[in-house]
Formats: sequence, C-alpha cells, structure tokens
Amino acid sequence: MNQADSCESVHEDPFDKLHEECGVFAIFGHPEAANLAYLGLHALQHRGQESAGIATSDGRLIHHVRRMGHVADIFTPNVLNELPGELAIGHTRYSTAGDTSIRNAQPLSVACNKGSVAVAHNGNLTNAIELRRDLEDDGSIFQSTSDTEVILHLVARSRERTLAGALRDALLQIEGAFSLVFLAEDRVIVARDPYGFRPLAMGRLELPDGSVATVFASETCAFDLINATYIGDVEPGEMVIVGPEGTTREYYTPPASPSHCAFEHVYFSRPDSVVFGKPVAQTREQMGRLLAREHPVEADIVVPVPDSGVTAALGYAAESGIPYRQALIRNHYVGRTFIEPSQAIRDFGVKLKLNPVRHLLEGKRVVLVDDSIVRGTTSRKIVRMVRSAGAREVHLRISCPPTISPCYYGVDTPSERDLIAANSTLEEIRNYVEADSIGYLSLDQLQKALQDQKGEFCYSCYTGKYPTLVQIGEVVLAKTGCC
Ligand code: AMP
Repeated sequence: MNQADSCESVHEDPFDKLHEECGVFAIFGHPEAANLAYLGLHALQHRGQESAGIATSDGRLIHHVRRMGHVADIFTPNVLNELPGELAIGHTRYSTAGDTSIRNAQPLSVACNKGSVAVAHNGNLTNAIELRRDLEDDGSIFQSTSDTEVILHLVARSRERTLAGALRDALLQIEGAFSLVFLAEDRVIVARDPYGFRPLAMGRLELPDGSVATVFASETCAFDLINATYIGDVEPGEMVIVGPEGTTREYYTPPASPSHCAFEHVYFSRPDSVVFGKPVAQTREQMGRLLAREHPVEADIVVPVPDSGVTAALGYAAESGIPYRQALIRNHYVGRTFIEPSQAIRDFGVKLKLNPVRHLLEGKRVVLVDDSIVRGTTSRKIVRMVRSAGAREVHLRISCPPTISPCYYGVDTPSERDLIAANSTLEEIRNYVEADSIGYLSLDQLQKALQDQKGEFCYSCYTGKYPTLVQIGEVVLAKTGCC
C-alpha cells in the first residue's frame, strides 16, 4: 500500500474522538413515554451499542438515566419506573475508542434561564471545535468532549427569552450534520440540519382514548415496534415543536441543496426501515442487482456476508440467476468481552462471529457479497475462511464504491491513512483480501439504485468532495474537498 497523500494530516486526530454513530427517538403525549422510548431505542440499537439514555418530563421536572451498555441491559423495569411523564427523548450511541466515556452519553441536560432542557443528537457538527473554543474563551465550562454540549451552551447563552427562540439562535450557529431531539418540561422540539444529512422520521400513535401521541425516530423500524404510523420526515432546515398548544412546523433556515447520507442505505440503516422516504430493502436489493450487471462472474453460488451483505446478495442472485446460499452463519450472541485461548488461533475474532457451512462451499465458485470494505481486514479474514472451507474460487463483490474519504457527518470512518481504498489500487486491494476477483458498485450505479436523479445524496466518503466546509483544528477542508 502507498503512503497516504499530502492531505493525510488533515484527516487525522482532532475529530476522531468526535466521530459518532447514533440513534435518536422522541415522543410527546403518551402516558408510557419512557416504555415507548425504551422500545424505540431497542429497535435503533444497531445505530450505537456503547451507551444509551432516556430523559422524560412529568410536566415539572426532567428525569434522566444514561449509562454505558445496551438498551435492554440498562432499562430494566425498575429503571424505567424512575422515568415518569408523558414526554420522552432517547439516544443510543457508538463512538470511537478514545471517547468511551459516560460523560459523553446522551441525552445531555442542563437547567438554564430557559428552563430545564435535555438534548440528544445524531450527526457531527463540523464547526464544533471553533465554537467550543469561543465559548470557553468567554467563560463556558464544558463537562464532556461531545460536540452536542456546544449546542446546550449556545441555547443557555442566547438572548432570546423563549426556548424555541434560543434554539433557533443556536441552530443558526452550528454547522454540519444534526438530527436533534430536545425535551423541555412541557414540550418536545426536534430539528434537522439544512442539508438533511442524517434521517429523522415523524410518526403518530393513536391511544385507546382517541388521543394521538407524536413520535420521532432516526428510522421507521422504531415506529413499527410501537405501532406508530410513519407520516413523513422532518424536513432539512425544519424545526417541529410539539407542546400543549399543538404542533407547529417552521423552517428556522432555508433548506440547502439536500445531502442525504448514501451510507445509511448502503449499510447503516436497517433494511426494514424507510429512510429519506425510500425503503432501504428496495434500494439495497437494487444495489445488488446493479452490481451483478456491472461485475458479472461465472460462479456456482452467491453468498452474503451476514448481516450487512444479505439484501444486496439477494439482489445479485436474482439478477445473475446464480443460487443464493447462506454459507456463512452468524452467531448473534457475541458479547463485548470473551476469553481468547492463550494458544493463538488464526482469525479467532471473526470465527467467533461467523462460521462457514462447509458442505455448501466445498468445491464451489463463490460470489461473496458485502456492503463495504473499510480497512480490508474483515474481508480478508472472511475470504480466507470461505476458501479454507473448500471454496474453489472466491469473487468479492461490494455494493458501494471504494471508501476513500472519512465522513465528517456522523459515520464512524477511520482516517484516510487507514482506508484501504484511499491508499491502494483495485488490484492491490484484491491481492490484500486474497480474492480471485473484486468488483465495487460504481458511483453512477449507486446513484441509480438510490433513484437520485437530482443529486440529493452525500457521497463524500466515495468522492472526497464535501458538501459543506469542514473545519478540523486549524484546517478547513473546502466545500469540494481538498484532495
Ligand atoms: P473492514 O474492511 O475490516 O474495516 O470492515 C468492513 C466491514 O465493517 C464492512 O463490511 C461493514 O459491514 C462494516 N462497516 C463498514 N462501515 C462501518 C461503520 N461505519 N461502522 C461499523 N461497521 C462498519
């Protein structure tokens, strides 16, 4: 692999600890708000497994619980009993290793001159470092290293007298990706950045007494579990206020040219969700079909890397006519800690999670389908595993373009230095992962699968071109990317 080019240094550290993948949820007007937030977060667990939290309001006080760990482990019935009220927001979070602290778990909350406010955030602010420096110079004291806390400081310092006014003020100062849910004593307020990078769906839930609760979630799969109906998305640049007087929707800023995250459809969202108004199962299957047309190969079976490659592999198999076989079986119960035998076992980590089905693979020419290659280490282990189970040929097919640039909008990607496709030719990647052939879906075809005729998606991890200015320490990446 070559050394990264001259831009390497700007893609390094300062922001690494701020890379976060998250899920958010909010509900207004339900007597079991905490229980429903719990269920919503449970459905969003795939968006972050490091910490989770729920804040509720009983109309007078905000109560909150946030802990490290999985939603189902944190929110036992006793814990949920500590969260009374008809309003709730929730958060589930994953971040890179340097930042695994309870201080950064959300919702974050403050009591200020606008009352008590809690917030949960999905996305990354691209001017957080600069804003934080200014706030600290002015005397603000930060409790966490999370960019979300910047928003609370801006709210608290706003000269606007109402919470909604202060939020508008804060939202106009922050840049980058944000789908935000706020909780005050008597209302839920949500907002989305003007580019619409991260999703935020809105729904309604009828109660037996005929009243209707309003719900918000990163993905619609959270609505399915609680029997809520998806009614559409919070629009880019929109703020929705749900309070005792009803619901108001307003644009706090004019929407920008939309830049929805393509990776939500490639990998991050669940296939049973509708994201940015499009069913993920459909776009992902289409990626697989187009991949089969772009990179056909003579083979005996199509095998998905579970779970991330399953839907695209179904599409590849349907389009190519090659039989689909689940020849890698995933153990869903892999915990965070495990005992590794002191005697080294090759590829132990991946074997914990996946096991090949030898009788399906033996002597076969295999098309192995996965969603993406980041560092390349996982693909290499899986290709080896399939081959050692007897496959005669292994042809790796990836349902998105090569990942060549880090994401600054809320997906946890390593720095450019560690992205195999940023530093290697296609042949070098093929050689590294030890596949007989390799084929990535092209950007054109990804756009086609997403039906993105108007250019409404962000593809910066595949192009290095960022739709906004990105500030990393002293360095500003221009709108079109620096490389
Ligand atoms: P590797 O190439 O070894 O870094 O691993 C790539 C695999 O990790 C892909 O096949 C995805 O299934 C998964 N993956 C890709 N991006 C992410 C991400 N941002 N967060 C978690 N998993 C990811």
